[in-house]
Amino acid sequence: MAKDYSLQHVSVSLSPQERFDEYLQSRAMRNTQQRRTVLEHVFSHHDHFDVETLIEQLPDKGEANYVSRPTVYRTLTEFVDAGLLRKFELGGRAIYEHDYGYPEHDHMVCNQCNQFFEFHSDEINNIRESVAQDYRFRVTGHRLLIFGICSDCAQPRRQKRKQDLI
Ligand SMILES: [Zn+2]
Ligand SMILES: [Zn+2]
Repeated sequence: MAKDYSLQHVSVSLSPQERFDEYLQSRAMRNTQQRRTVLEHVFSHHDHFDVETLIEQLPDKGEANYVSRPTVYRTLTEFVDAGLLRKFELGGRAIYEHDYGYPEHDHMVCNQCNQFFEFHSDEINNIRESVAQDYRFRVTGHRLLIFGICSDCAQPRRQKRKQDLI
């Protein structure tokens, strides 16, 4: 690849947990085991997820650290509010991903496997700045989703079926 589309590194002084603690304190709210469970899970790995996927991954009812559905929804809203997560709509679903400490990027989304591919492009940011300047528009952010078929899904069908059997 001639150009570098890799994500730039961002350093932050607080961990997501510390940042969230600050947020809770500023609102005179207390941290709970349920909030901690959701936070630990969500920030254990970078992913693009919807609420249903997250609920499937969390402990089931009757298990230790079970978090009720309404609490999961409420906690995710708090994470967005606290600047820890970003939320966007895709095909009528709300998708969440890390925001705090995670570099700015755009996405390609595969129509078949729904996988997200992240990239960073200075050129897109330059276009953004130049258009905004023309319109005397103050940019606060942008969201670009490119739809299509990823290279795995574009493989000939027979080959794909073989992989599915493994
Ligand atoms: Zn795909
Ligand atoms: Zn992303």
